[in-house]
Amino acid sequence: MGYYDGKMQEFIQKRQLDRLHFVENLRKTVLPAQIKRIQQNDKGVLKDLVLPEWLDWDLLYEWAMRFNVIENPRECVLCNSKAELGIDFNQKFICERCFFRVKVL
Ligand SMILES: [Zn+2]
Repeated sequence: MGYYDGKMQEFIQKRQLDRLHFVENLRKTVLPAQIKRIQQNDKGVLKDLVLPEWLDWDLLYEWAMRFNVIENPRECVLCNSKAELGIDFNQKFICERCFFRVKVL
């Protein structure tokens, strides 16, 4: 299990749902360009982000690595909507919204 998954499970076990939701909603505040910088391990991006203390760089980094920042939106296999961000799962694209929905279930 990765650090990210471990942390998310920890939040659930400790009932720190506010933290869980914060990470889930990160995408709304972090721009694609900033996600790219996080993926490149550029900690200078922290100056542009307002993050709580408990959110450490490793968690942010693994969070960012879950996303493919791509130029063209792709079609999600679950909801069929076009999305810019998501993950490749068994070579199928899942948008981040469906990804989190599946994750919470
Ligand atoms: Zn979807």
